Amino acid sequence: MPQHPTIAIVGGGLGGLTLARILHLNGMAATVFELDAHPLARPQGGSLDMHAETGQRALRLAGLEDAFRTLARYEDQGGKVYHPDGRLLFEETDFEGDRPEIDRTQLRQLLLDALPEGMVRWGQKVAAVRPLADGRHAVVVEGGPDEAFDLVVGADGAWSRVRPLVSSATPFYEGVTFVELGIDDVDRRHPAIAALVGRGKIFAKGRSRTLVAQRSSNGHIRVYAALRMAENALELDRTTPGWAVAQLAAHFDGFAPALLELIMQGELLALRPMYALPVGHRWDNRPGLTLIGDAAHLMSPFGGEGANGAMADGADLALALARGGDWRRAVADYEAIMVPRASEAARGAAEGLSGAVAEDARDHVLEHFQSMQQEGDAARRTEELSVPREVFETRMAEMTANAEIRKRVNAACRFDLSGPNGGSWIADFREGSAGVRRGDEAVQCTIAMRDDDFTAMVAGRFNARMAFMGGRLKVKGDMAVAMTLGEILER
Ligand SMILES: Cc1cc2nc3c(=O)[nH]c(=O)nc-3n(C[C@H](O)[C@H](O)[C@H](O)COP(=O)(O)OP(=O)(O)OC[C@H]3O[C@@H](n4cnc5c(N)ncnc54)[C@H](O)[C@@H]3O)c2cc1C
Repeated sequence: MPQHPTIAIVGGGLGGLTLARILHLNGMAATVFELDAHPLARPQGGSLDMHAETGQRALRLAGLEDAFRTLARYEDQGGKVYHPDGRLLFEETDFEGDRPEIDRTQLRQLLLDALPEGMVRWGQKVAAVRPLADGRHAVVVEGGPDEAFDLVVGADGAWSRVRPLVSSATPFYEGVTFVELGIDDVDRRHPAIAALVGRGKIFAKGRSRTLVAQRSSNGHIRVYAALRMAENALELDRTTPGWAVAQLAAHFDGFAPALLELIMQGELLALRPMYALPVGHRWDNRPGLTLIGDAAHLMSPFGGEGANGAMADGADLALALARGGDWRRAVADYEAIMVPRASEAARGAAEGLSGAVAEDARDHVLEHFQSMQQEGDAARRTEELSVPREVFETRMAEMTANAEIRKRVNAACRFDLSGPNGGSWIADFREGSAGVRRGDEAVQCTIAMRDDDFTAMVAGRFNARMAFMGGRLKVKGDMAVAMTLGEILER
């Protein structure tokens, strides 16, 4: 019998609960310390879209895919961009996307219901984590006795108590504050707002001011009034809610009355200054400690990767630990997968925030939606490429002809594909010899996998990192080249 480590998970948010659930499914125990007294102690926020390769995959691994489907709102994947003067500039009409929405409260409850009684210890605020002489760490709970664990996972969000033990990084203010408002029973009470928002999200970008609104379940609309301003500079008289809302609306002077209704009819819920950890945050592996989710890679919500990434982290760490063998090695393997994934997401989130709430008049949000539509069209065309030969002759050839991609990869990679449509291809990204050719010459990196896995990977239906961990995809030579190429191909 393999010896399992004793595991503490600090924080029962989406990341910590996903980790706990998948550990439990694999017969491994863990203790979740959660500071909230019960699941509904705090409003959990609005709607989240679950991405196929991260949130949805984590739910599948957690055995909760079917339960998720019964709650998920596939019909709420729309998107609209308005000019601040109220003109509709863009409307996403493809409702067949693969990013179904779910209310955060429902998602958290789904995970909680799948855990054994007592696995989450509510009302337990972790004050600190202390190294012990025997290599373990003591979890110090406010008002409770210390408890020692082999592995302590920081899943405790932005202001993690575990992070200082592995990293000196602290979140910084990104220059934007969100004011969160809620509108209930919108279809009945506010049909004009219901029509404005439609089935999904809307954006209206002004100079340093952006309005975002999003439909949740049960006729609820969550509104985020985003303002670029110095930290703590927003002064709203919150003792008189109606007045606070009017003060906020004054910051959006010049926006069309129909858009301002999103603020005027809203109930003020929270002020959320946007904080982030530096893009690419990483740390040297420390035995017995690791981080998942916001504790590891806090980022702005633009891109919608935070909760998805937290769940993917929880799933990847659980899977690595469940493999058996050396659990310290498993933690290092998880970190090697998490850091590049989170870095890319954080880069996108930082760019998203700076464009979406920008001082200039350019509509970065509109540009983003338009480029997403073009990428979607390109992806659909790629999906039609059913055999590797077609992928190499078209998509891969285009990639090797792209100077920016050549600069990023700057190496040649051989694909040895098994199966009826397999063979060996060289994708050469070096200046002077760039291009695609058949052959088995020795190059910087060789990737071996099945032909149908390769086409699925290019179509975004196959997780190369997990396949690598599971031995279904093998890499020889320069791993960094393989990872860079994988990232570009998976897009
Ligand atoms: C306005 C807004 C909109 C967002 N929209 C999206 C979106 O659409 N899609 C998306 O993917 N992401 C979104 N995010 C990001 C997402 O909310 C986070 O990335 C996600 O919640 C991170 O999950 P987590 O489990 O790492 O941390 P958290 O959800 O922060 O959970 C941490 C848990 O740890 C507990 N805790 C904290 N400190 C302690 C302690 N000392 N002791 C014990 N327990 C502790 C907390 O109570 C909490 O339950 C949004 C964020 C914001 C602010």
